[in-house]
Amino acid sequence: MRPKQLVLLLGRPILQWSVEAFVSHPQVGDVVVALPPDLVADPPDYLRAALKPIRLVEGGDRRQDSVVRAFALLPARSDVVVIHDAARPLVTADVIDRTIAAARAHGAAIAAMPATDTVKRSGPDGRVVDTLPRAEIFLAQTPQAFRVDVLREALALGERTPDATDEAALVERSGRPVRLVQGDPRNLKITTADDLALAERLLGGPPGQMNASALRIGHGYDLHRLVAGRRLVLGGVVIPFDRGLQGHSDADAVCHAVTDAILGAAGEGDIGRHFPDTDPSWKDADSIALLRHAAGIVAAAGYGVVNIDVTVIAERPKMAPHADAMRRNLARAIGVDPSQISVKGKTNEGVGSIGAGESIAVHAVALLMGSGVMFRGQGAEK
Ligand code: MG
Repeated sequence: MRPKQLVLLLGRPILQWSVEAFVSHPQVGDVVVALPPDLVADPPDYLRAALKPIRLVEGGDRRQDSVVRAFALLPARSDVVVIHDAARPLVTADVIDRTIAAARAHGAAIAAMPATDTVKRSGPDGRVVDTLPRAEIFLAQTPQAFRVDVLREALALGERTPDATDEAALVERSGRPVRLVQGDPRNLKITTADDLALAERLLGGPPGQMNASALRIGHGYDLHRLVAGRRLVLGGVVIPFDRGLQGHSDADAVCHAVTDAILGAAGEGDIGRHFPDTDPSWKDADSIALLRHAAGIVAAAGYGVVNIDVTVIAERPKMAPHADAMRRNLARAIGVDPSQISVKGKTNEGVGSIGAGESIAVHAVALLMGSGVMFRGQGAEK
């Protein structure tokens, strides 16, 4: 089974949504993510290809142990630390803003929601022993934000006291005030399949109820002649073969088709417009670099990649042995996880120029989502 933080929400891991909420937040300078050891050893690409430095640390047995380890990696210039549960991918920039502002002013602040249900205290036999005054009850969310000095003191105290279910509880024990700020009802913690389904609905999914204007599909097609004396490069992989594709750049038809698919989906023209073959700077260019550049154009236009599907039509050589390496290269260039990329091969059954082994063609489709939707909520740890 996948770890909970890697469960997909509209095609992207919950962790990725959460991390991007903080990476894209203007007040957040550095992000530290506490992860299981195997993920630290082999982190997904979205934790590497980020706009801001992301430090990874192995989580501890207890939540507060993970926080202590992450805290130790913060740069010295940090003034406020924001702690977020990766299982709350829908956190909004507004909630993060409010929490940071209140922590700056008061030392410690947590996002919380007023209780709307009446709260009962139960005895050991299931009998109600008390009804709590509802106006005084708040349900804690994350983010929780702290001035660095306040959190340092609370974590030191935490070494000597029982487990806390959140960091604010440690600060409360240290005798410091913790302020409540308005959370968001959509900032739900995903712990069950029902939570996941609700989160997908809040983001505009699932299919049938999808917010169609947030989704964009694009198609890319490319064909190059196979000629002697050239390397065969597809999806950034040099494939052993007696011929290669002819072209101005490295003639990587997979990268070219994917580049056109994402540019097309974003309404940003095509590869010829951004990388004209009349421009000598792109001669013999590494097409993975062109794709990375195109992914930046698409991101700047406000879109993130949900998934990409590629079909390579070649009589020879076989594509299957190279498909995974291509997926990894494409994913890294675009800044997504390889699970969001598919590459498959097909022959042309001996028909036409492709069938005669004179050319290779590639089709790609890309699904993008408006980042106003993708980034509307999120969280990780700063
Ligand atoms: Mg081409």
